[in-house]
Parts: sequence; structure tokens; C-alpha cells
Amino acid sequence: MTEEPKVSAKARLDELLERVRAIASTLPDVVWSVAVPSHKIIYVSPAAEAVFGKTDEQMSKSFSEWSDLLHPDDRGRVLEKWEHATHGAPFEAEYRIVTPQGGMRWIQTKGRCATDADGDVVRIDGMARDVTERREHEERISHLTRIRSVLSGINSIIVRVREREDLLRETCRIAVEQGGFGMVWIGLLDAGGREVKVAAHHGFAPDVPGELKLPAGGSTELQDRAGCRAILDGIPVIVNDLARVHPHNELRRLAVKRGYRSVIALPLIESGATAGVMIMYAKEIDFFNADEVKLLSELAGDISLALEHIGIEERLKFLANYDPLTGLPNRALMHERLTQRLAAARQKQVHTAVAVADVKRFRLVNETFGRHAGDRVLRELAQRLRAHGPESLELARVSPDSFALVLTGTRDAADIATTLERCVGGALAAPFLIDGEEIRIAMTTGVAVFPPDGDDAEVLFRNAEAALKRAKRAGDRILFYQPEMNARVAETLILENRLRRAVQEEQFVLHYQPKISAVSGRITGLEALIRWLDPGAGLVPPGKFIPVLEETGMILDVGTWAIRKALIESRNWRLTRGGPLRIAVNVSAIQLRQRDFVDTVKRSIDGLGIAATHLDLELTESMVMEDIEENVRKLQAVRDMGVNVAVDDFGTGYSSLAYLAKLPVNALKIDRTFVDTMTRNPHSMTLVSTIISLAHALDLKVIAEGVESEEQAKLLRLLKCDELQGYLFSKPLAPGEVQDFLMSRGGGTQVESWIA
Ligand code: C2E
Ligand code: CA
Ligand code: CA
Repeated sequence: MTEEPKVSAKARLDELLERVRAIASTLPDVVWSVAVPSHKIIYVSPAAEAVFGKTDEQMSKSFSEWSDLLHPDDRGRVLEKWEHATHGAPFEAEYRIVTPQGGMRWIQTKGRCATDADGDVVRIDGMARDVTERREHEERISHLTRIRSVLSGINSIIVRVREREDLLRETCRIAVEQGGFGMVWIGLLDAGGREVKVAAHHGFAPDVPGELKLPAGGSTELQDRAGCRAILDGIPVIVNDLARVHPHNELRRLAVKRGYRSVIALPLIESGATAGVMIMYAKEIDFFNADEVKLLSELAGDISLALEHIGIEERLKFLANYDPLTGLPNRALMHERLTQRLAAARQKQVHTAVAVADVKRFRLVNETFGRHAGDRVLRELAQRLRAHGPESLELARVSPDSFALVLTGTRDAADIATTLERCVGGALAAPFLIDGEEIRIAMTTGVAVFPPDGDDAEVLFRNAEAALKRAKRAGDRILFYQPEMNARVAETLILENRLRRAVQEEQFVLHYQPKISAVSGRITGLEALIRWLDPGAGLVPPGKFIPVLEETGMILDVGTWAIRKALIESRNWRLTRGGPLRIAVNVSAIQLRQRDFVDTVKRSIDGLGIAATHLDLELTESMVMEDIEENVRKLQAVRDMGVNVAVDDFGTGYSSLAYLAKLPVNALKIDRTFVDTMTRNPHSMTLVSTIISLAHALDLKVIAEGVESEEQAKLLRLLKCDELQGYLFSKPLAPGEVQDFLMSRGGGTQVESWIA
């Protein structure tokens, strides 16, 4: 009898446990119990199969049956919590699992620790619940909230933004910053309707996105791109798992690499036609569902409406500011732009010319060939004026048959006249071919110049028109507002014409100035200096005509002529003693700037039977520095031919030493002004001495020009200058005088006195 209560107690316990198991097995949640620290599974209720996708038997095998299911992104966090729980912390977590069937589920779990008498954790008991549905619902809500905030953000900018670029840029920014989309871009269809150019983007930097090309003829692979299809079909296109589809383009590849999984392409419609596409990337798979698409379509609709509105405003603005026939600014816009230019010109102290050019008897063109032909002439004339004008030309149509031309940075009246002549004359040179008819027109131009002829747009315009009126009356092609300017232009134009004839009739001659070795006193070479033998005025020095030759481009022919002439003439001359006679020729910046400069030099030497080493080219410091990289290349090519190069007028420019070392040159010519002042001015003296030692350090020869006195020569010799040139030794000599000079002075005896 004494055993009786014991047996019945165990039986009661078993029965109790059975009852608990029975209750647990009816619950939809998993009830579990795990021993600590062994991690032996004591109990898992049968609901495991529905929640975890594994039977309670499977789950009971080991702890890892559960931990293996944890989603990689949540595993670390959950196991850390578990670790804390084994030391007594409550175990509460929401996490994702990947079931053996491959599905993703959200699990909510809660556990409680059981402790022994010492307070050590021996067991954790708890439950686990499948909360996938609730989580998805919450996420959906948060997606929609995100999109709604984008929608309201964008609607608020739509009302205040007036420019297309601002609208698109802000849209992308808000979608990223408030919508959390990560990467968003908007592409606009080009005029041809085949290419979508990225107009705005956010979240892509520093990778700049590329472009979409629409398939020309139904290529399915291309059609597959969400963006293309959205544009072609005019409906939103969604890809809800990017990782599973072929990445068709760079943008998509980039998106996948950054962890984006869903994309939506929304067409933007302007005035009833597809104008572009907005593409948004989200990190979540299946982000875009019916509700999201509905909201986003609404958003695209709002943007489309805003684009349409901006489009209308742009067209209105265009009509108010531009001439619809030629597309040129009209008088009002010209006025505005001229005012802006004048403000800048006033600050920078530069000249600005305002010209009004009027088509002569344009009425006749309309009457003879019809208005339609007249319109086409004007349109083409506008294009030609632009094409023949300088880059800075501001062009406008200011009346039915007149154009305004604004030039900035012009030097003087002659410069303005030449530029206008090139622009207007060039535009009218060929007849206009309209419907098989050759139409010739002429223009009259009136010019006003800022600052002398007026301080604001209004006055300058008025004065240019006054000059135009006078020009029309006088039958002049071009007339300045100020009579003196016309006189100056006329003078330059006359000179220009005479020079043109001089080039044709070869009225130029070269004079030669000897260079003397500072050490031996012997003649080392000659510098060719050009003069113009003007039939009317006699010998004209180069300072008077070289600038005009340069402005008109005639310097190119004359420069080539000079090199060839100098080499040919020098063939007749012999030194009685000493080394070879070198001929130096000056080169203009215009020549050096030519793309075929090197070839031209080569052609000038070719066929003369003279070695290139006899030729020195003299280039001024400032022109070499103008486009240093390109000039280094050209000069190196010239050097490779054997030609020597000297930097002329050295010290007047602003060469940096770093560049000087890079230049492929043989010699520096110290500018005359330093030689002139060195005996009086200690500063010049220091400069000359520095140039010489610097040049020697760089292995360059130094030539001093303009040496007029014994004192200068003596100093220069002391400073170890290599060669001397100047009136002290000889003025530039006419070709007929050169040989005598070489004979008398080249022998050595008389030269000795120069080195004494
Ligand atoms: P540059 O190359 O500096 O030439 C030196 C100028 O100094 C020459 O003037 C020469 O006559 C003058 N001169 C020589 N020794 C003395 C002297 O002791 N004292 C003084 N006060 N002057 C002296 P020029 O012949 O009038 O030439 C002036 C400039 O014209 C040259 O300066 C050169 O830049 C340019 N030039 C001359 N011939 C040509 C040419 O064929 N082509 C190009 N592009 N320019 C040339
Ligand atoms: Ca020179
Ligand atoms: Ca010089």
C-alpha cells in the first residue's frame, strides 16, 4: 500500500505531460523546449511542419535543424540573441527563414529561461509563430507610404519649378531621398524619336549612366528592356526580380551589382505623345505591385502634366524672344543680351561693336521670286552669317530684312571692319539657290562701337542704325557712326590692298644682320629681316606692315617666301674663314599656329640643296607659350629635321622655368630692351646675367640683340653671352652688301678689335 501513492504520482505526471502535449499539438504556433548548455532539443510541437516546413521529428534531431533555416541576412542577429538567452536574457526576435521548400517566411519567437537552484540556465522554453502575412502587409503599407511621400514631394516642386531640367533633377532627388528608391533616372526621347538620353539621375554617381537606343525593327532582345517597352507601348513596365533576368544594359548590371532587385519603367507623356521614361530601382524583390504601380502612374502623370506646362511656357517664351523664321533672337532678346555683354565689357574694358546689316532692296526679292523664296533666302542668310562670323558673334534678326551683329573683344575699327567684311561678305559671296533660281543679294552695314559711340544698348543700336542710314544714302557697303573711324578703316583697307599687290608682285626684300661670336669675334650667322620696297614710299620697316599681313593671313605666303628666299640668297655667300654660315628667319605666331607648320618648313627647304642645319627659326617667347603642348610637338618635329630654334625677345614674356626646360629649342635671344638698359639699370643687369646662367644650365646658347656700344659688348662677354648682334657690328645689310661685309670682316683681322 505504501508504494501506491508513488506510482500514482508518476502516472499523474505522465498523464499531465500527455495532456500538455495534446494541447500544444492543437496550437497553430510551435511550442519548443531546448536544454542548455547541451542544446539538446527536448520538445518541438507538431505545428513545426506548418511553420518551419520540417516535421517535429526532424526538428528534434538537433539544434542546427532550426539554425540552418535562418535567412543569411538575419542569422547573425538571431544567434547573438540566442547566445544572450543562454545566459539568462529573454529571447525575443522577428526573423526570416528560408524553408526547405525554398519559400521565405517571417517568424516571431519568444522564449523564457528556466534555471536550477544555482540560478544557471538549464533550459529555454518558448513558442514560434508564422507572422509572414502581417509583415508583408506592413511592408506594403510602408512602400505605399514611401511612394505617397514622393508623390507629395514632387507635387510640391511641380508648382514652383519653371525649368525642365530643374523639374527632372528634383524629381529624381526626391524619389531617392524620400522614396528610398536608391537609383532613379529620367530619359527624354530625342528629336528623332530613336534615342533616349539621360536627362537627370540620382543615386548613380559616380557612375554616369549611358543611353537607351530604341530598337529599329522589332529586335526582341532589345524590346525586352523595360525602358524601351515602356516608351514603345506607353504603359508602365515592371521587372520584379532583376537577378533572374539577363542584364541587358550597363544600368541594369550596375543596379544588380548594388543589390537592386526590382525596377519599374514609367512612360512620360507630353502633349499626347511619349516624351521619355522614368526608371526607378528598389532593393526588394516584388516591390512593385498593383497599388504601387497605381500610385507611381499617378506620379508619372503629374510629371507629364508639369512637362507639358513647361513646354507651353517654353514655346511662349520662344515666340516672345525669337524670330520663328530664322530661329535667331529678336530685337527684344538682342537688347537684353547686348545689355549683359556691355556690363561684362565695361568691367573688362573691352571693345564691343554693334552692327546693323540690312539687305538691299529685299522687297524686290519678294516681288520677283515670291515670299516663299524670300523666306528661304533669309533663313539661309542667317545660317551663312553665323557660319562666317567669329565664335563670339551674337546674331539677331531685328527687322524683316535686317540683322544685328554684336562683336566683342575687337581691337580697332579696322579689325571690326575686316571681321564684318569676312562675315557679311562671306555670307553673300555665293548666290542663293532657291528652286533652281540663283538669287544674289547685297547688304549695307552701319556700325556703332562701345565705348566711344554710346554706353548702353539703346544708344548703340540707335547710332548703328543712324550709320546704316548714312551708308545707304552714300551707297557705302559699311559705315561707322564716327567719321574718323571710317577714315582709319579706309587707311587700313588701302594699305591692305597695296600689300596684296606687294605679295603678288614680290615687292619684299630681305636685309641681313650679322651675328658675332662673343669669344672669337667671328661672324656666325645672319638674321634675315624683311622690308617692303613700296614703289610709292620706298623701304618700309616690318613694324608698319607685318601686323596687317598677320591680320589678313597674307603672312603665311610671305613667311614661306622669306624662309626660301633667305636660304637661296645665302647660297651665294661664303665666309673667308670659320664655320658654316647660319641664316635665321623670323616666324610669326600665325605661321606657327597652322596645323601644317612643320610641313611648310620642310617644303621651304626641300630641293634647295641646303642642309636644314643652316636654318635657324626665331619665335617670340609669348607665341611659344600660347599653346605649349602643341608647340612643343611642332618644334620637336622641326628640330628633328635639323633646323635650329631660338626664342626671340626673351625676357618680355612670362615663361615659367619648368616650361623652358621642356621646350625643344637651341638658343635664347635676350630682348633688346634689356641690353639697352643693362649698363644703366642694375635690375636689367641682374636679369641679363640670370638669363645667361639659366640658359647655360639648360644647355642653351644665348644671343644678345641690339648691342650698340662697346660697353654693352664688354659686359655681355664678361657674362659669357655666346653671340652678339646689333648696330655696333653692323646694321641690317641689303643682299648686295652682304658678301663684301663677309669678306672684309669675316677674315678675322678687323673682327679682333671687337673682342679687345
Ligand atoms: P626682331 O626679330 O626682334 O628683330 C630685331 C630688330 O632690331 C630689327 O628691326 C633690327 O633692325 C633691329 N636692330 C638690330 N640691331 C639693333 C640695334 O643695335 N639697335 C636697335 N635699336 N635696333 C636694332 P626690324 O628689322 O625693324 O624688325 C622688327 C621686327 O619685325 C623683328 O623684330 C621681327 O619681329 C619682325 N620681322 C622682321 N622680319 C620678319 C620676317 O621675315 N617675318 C616675320 N614674321 N617677322 C619679321
Ligand atoms: Ca628676330
Ligand atoms: Ca627681338
